[in-house]
This record gives sequence, structure tokens and C-alpha cells, in this order.
Amino acid sequence: MTSEGKCRLCGKTYKGSGMARHLGSELKKVADEKGKNTYFHIKVYAGPYFLHLLVKNSIQLQKLDYYLRNIWLECCGHMSEFQFPNEAPDWDDFDDFDPFKVPKKMQDKLKDKLYKDLEFTYIYDWGSSTQLVLKVMQEYKFPKKLDEIILLSRNEAFEFKCSQCKNDADYINTEAMYETDYPFFCENCNDTQEDFDSEMILNIVNSPRMGVCGYDNDSEPKYPFKLVKLN
Ligand SMILES: [Zn+2]
Ligand SMILES: [Zn+2]
Ligand SMILES: [Zn+2]
Repeated sequence: MTSEGKCRLCGKTYKGSGMARHLGSELKKVADEKGKNTYFHIKVYAGPYFLHLLVKNSIQLQKLDYYLRNIWLECCGHMSEFQFPNEAPDWDDFDDFDPFKVPKKMQDKLKDKLYKDLEFTYIYDWGSSTQLVLKVMQEYKFPKKLDEIILLSRNEAFEFKCSQCKNDADYINTEAMYETDYPFFCENCNDTQEDFDSEMILNIVNSPRMGVCGYDNDSEPKYPFKLVKLN
């Protein structure tokens, strides 16, 4: 599966593999060493799924955590963690896990943890995990005050065809997911899925958590395509 996405700075479509480079050249044009607002350009990916984010360096990791949950992951409030190279997991956070408390490590600021070329991972849910890789592409300064997290690009939704009739699929059968490589089907072919538990039938969504733990949240309407202006 190859992916492509639209650059929200210019509106053009690029392949996933070329997007970081393209965004780099766009961002360089707007950045200014004398600017007071420092941002990291971060690529987030899981297989062919990707996000390119511009993230203010002074925010806490928890804001990035919320963002990733909202756009790609949140099903039932599972625990999550950023994992940095050469850093052991914080077992204290496991022992007194309290869903209403922000873990200590999540309060770290990005600027104290991140630097250009750093690659780190993020895990959502230690049971049916979804793991993401984050790569810091570059650091920029901008004169204008901008939102704390800006979506620069995300992969366009993949097209899945119905396994029965080859029209566009609407659902994924997560019960059949482990028996067949291709558990997708369309509204019209609903009756072919009667032997399965209807709770295991989920919508197709543009997220690496599609089909996992009831994840059914289509975030596209919350993040509609719109051009971003950085200056
Ligand atoms: Zn562009
Ligand atoms: Zn869940
Ligand atoms: Zn069909």
C-alpha cells in the first residue's frame, strides 16, 4: 500500500515518501531565525499511515498525546506512552496508573526532549497496542504566533474494495480479520456477514487503529482539509 497526501501549505498532492522533503522546502521559506516562536516539524507514521505536524517546542508531551488520540487512536481511554531511545519505561506510572492524572513524563516539555533527527516511539494501549514512530525532521522559528499544533499533511484515506462484489467497501469485519487477509465488505453485501457478531463489524476509518478494540472514530470531519498560512 503506498500512500499520498495533500500539503496543507500549498494544496498539492505528494507521495508519502516525498512529503517530508517538500514540506521542508516550504517551511524554510517562511522560517526566520529572528522569530520568537520555535516549532518542530514532526513526521508521525505507522506503516503507510502518516501525519506531518508542526508542534510548538514549549508545549508538554501530553498535548501531543491528546492530539494523536483525537486524530488517530482514542477508543476507550487506554494508557499511552512516549518512548525515547535509551530511556527505560517509567514503572511508577504503571503502578499508580490513574486515568484522571497526567503521568509525570507526559508533563515534560518537547524542547527538553526533542532535537533534530531524533526518532522515538509512541504506544497507545498496552493490550491491543497501536505503535507509532515519530521523527523530528527539523526545527524552525517563525515570526508569527501560530497554533500549538498544526496539521501540515495526513495520508489520504485508502480505498478498500468489498471482498464480495468489488465495489467500495464500507466496513471491516474484525472477527474475520485474523482468518482472512481481506475482511472488508460493503453495505449491499451485509448479508454475507450474518454469521459474525455485529459488534465486531466496524466502519472503515483513516487510522492505523482501524479495526482494533472497537476503534471506529472517523476523525476526518474534525480535521477538514484547509490551507494553513504561516506568515
Ligand atoms: Zn506544499
Ligand atoms: Zn479500547
Ligand atoms: Zn459488496
